[in-house]
Amino acid sequence: MASLNSSIKSIPRVGETTGKKLLKLDIETVQDLLMHLPFRYEDYSQVTKINNLVINTNANVVGTIELIQNKKSPRKRMNITEALITDDTEQLRVIWFNQPFIIKSLKPGDKISLAGKVESDYLGIVMNSPMFEKIGYQGPIHTQGLIPNYRLTYGVTQKQMRFLIKQVIDKAREIIDWLPGEVKRDLRLLDISDAIQKIHFPKTLKDIEEAKKRLAFNELFLLQMRAQIARLQKESTKAQGIPFLEKETKKFVDSLPFTLTDDQKKSAWQILLDLEKSTPMTRLLEGDVGSGKTVVAAIAMLNVALNDKLEAQSALMAPTEILAKQHYEGIKKLYSDTNINLGLFTRSEQYIFDPRTKIEEKFTKKKITQAIKNHEVNVVIGTHSLVQESLEFKNLSLVIIDEQHRFGVEQRKELINKSGNPDTTPHFLSMTATPIPRSLAMALFCDLDISIIKELPKNRKPITTKLVYETNRNDTYVFIRNQIKSGRQAFVVCPLIDESDKLGVKSVKEVYERLSKNIFPNLNIEMLHGRLKAKEKDDIMNRFINNETNILVSTSIIEVGVDIPNASIMMIEDAERFGLAQLHQFRGRVGRGEHQSYCLLFTESQNKDSLERLGALVKSSDGFQLAQMDLKMRGPGEVFGTAQKGFPDLKVANLFDHILIKNAQDQAEKIIKEDSDLKIYPALREKISRMDTDNYLAG
Ligand code: ADP
Ligand code: MG
Repeated sequence: MASLNSSIKSIPRVGETTGKKLLKLDIETVQDLLMHLPFRYEDYSQVTKINNLVINTNANVVGTIELIQNKKSPRKRMNITEALITDDTEQLRVIWFNQPFIIKSLKPGDKISLAGKVESDYLGIVMNSPMFEKIGYQGPIHTQGLIPNYRLTYGVTQKQMRFLIKQVIDKAREIIDWLPGEVKRDLRLLDISDAIQKIHFPKTLKDIEEAKKRLAFNELFLLQMRAQIARLQKESTKAQGIPFLEKETKKFVDSLPFTLTDDQKKSAWQILLDLEKSTPMTRLLEGDVGSGKTVVAAIAMLNVALNDKLEAQSALMAPTEILAKQHYEGIKKLYSDTNINLGLFTRSEQYIFDPRTKIEEKFTKKKITQAIKNHEVNVVIGTHSLVQESLEFKNLSLVIIDEQHRFGVEQRKELINKSGNPDTTPHFLSMTATPIPRSLAMALFCDLDISIIKELPKNRKPITTKLVYETNRNDTYVFIRNQIKSGRQAFVVCPLIDESDKLGVKSVKEVYERLSKNIFPNLNIEMLHGRLKAKEKDDIMNRFINNETNILVSTSIIEVGVDIPNASIMMIEDAERFGLAQLHQFRGRVGRGEHQSYCLLFTESQNKDSLERLGALVKSSDGFQLAQMDLKMRGPGEVFGTAQKGFPDLKVANLFDHILIKNAQDQAEKIIKEDSDLKIYPALREKISRMDTDNYLAG
């Protein structure tokens, strides 16, 4: 007899071919099949008497076949199977098209169950091509009750899938239920075997609800357990406490050309408190594009640097050379009145700047590596190169990663390994403009502390966002020309690099050709995309930063952080191809100076959802609200992208179910408090040990 781990091929009637097809759905074993959950249900839970049928509704009818015959349609192209069914009230006509074989399995006198839409034609009431099954000893499973719908693959039908699951459903009893009994009791959750049974073969809507709740809880609880374990590990790790330097910090803040927003102050304060502790900080600093996260990072690094006796260092890692350079230049300005030595370390450039002498010296990799090891640099700003090269710090105490979703957990760990101080772990701050709603962050990483900068600096002008259709393209070009005449610059973002796409989606090369040859032959236009070499990209970007280029046609690579205050136009081609959160990021590339800026969303889409998404962008400039919407519409996998490691694949749980999330958190906390090694919960321990415990943000 098959067990949970047996191949699905051990199930009767599953041969090599079906087995292969099911593999496409990641179904390999009996257990996989049981875990292939329905994504929706059709409600045929009431059997309707024929005399009560209502036209244009779905119904389940049970009756006896009086007559069944095949006919040709008037033009003889189609086979029609016609049947008359009766129950104790009335007769019903049923028609199937082009399924002549039906007649082989249904005979007059058979009792059958039908499910489908009730319609009417010139002869009266009729059911066209309903699902059907003979009622045998096991009762109807396809046509009566709440009928589950599964994700399918070519060559596997709903009926077949249900049939297969029906055959193995008893095996659900063998699934090990790792959820502690007391948790189940506390929250009145079903046993796993009941949940599996009910999710596939529900009798009532309540069955579905209860089953889903249990399965969703599984996912959320495991996440919370993972987070609790990470928290325990963190608590047993030592970090270098960085005393808060009140006077120096105040002096620095006073030297800034602007006043900090309240959110900036609060975030900085939270970080400084964390730094004082002798356990490592793991904090996420979230703030919409342009909210001013860099200066908050600068305050933290300043405190590390000015604690002279500690000889402690900070590293700030950015996803691209351009961004690293921009951070370096920005922080150079911010630190101009300090005595903090600043280093830039990327693949192609290495500098050290000494604000006391105002001398910036170009270094070789070898020389800067030595300088960093000897603590001649307090703050090192760089790219992946910080991790890749044979770099070592004297005493790295603070690691800051900008736009961490571009990095993997590994890279952060490697950077930590280079800290030069085996006894402590650096404090860690991750900065992101992808607004992860607090509820989501809480669900995923409860061990992670979060600071949020919601409020934008006061001098920001709201960006005008418009949906533009093809008919207004030429007017838009006139508008862009005028903006450029008055000194501004424009970005044009396209979904693709070249014309490889058959769907007619705009590509950078195509758009670049058209703009530079036909539309704006007198302007300086350049293109930027990921296939260019790093050096070329930097040169192009630098020419744009220096206003030598009027228009930059680019792929989504300009998405992160680049600051070009003179750019006032963000034009996006085929805007519906991008996610909301991403579009919002593009928009954040403009409106960073004193000029009124515009975000122009081009689309030819007629799709209701797409237009709704774009409409949301026109209406709202709140990145958090947009991210929330995007998450609801597309789910975290899509929103945060595949590069976002450690984002769990939640199949049942809803990230907006705050109550269940809170329950999962409380229960996980309780379990860990009571038994941190999970000695009395071996099944749970086993389950967790098989999980990927790498936490996306908190390591
Ligand atoms: P982001 O959060 O997107 O990384 P930045 O740190 O790059 O934003 O800041 C964007 C711009 O806003 C920078 O030019 C910075 O100098 C400026 N800025 C930061 N904080 C303030 C503030 N409180 N008032 C005015 N301008 C600010
Ligand atoms: Mg930034």
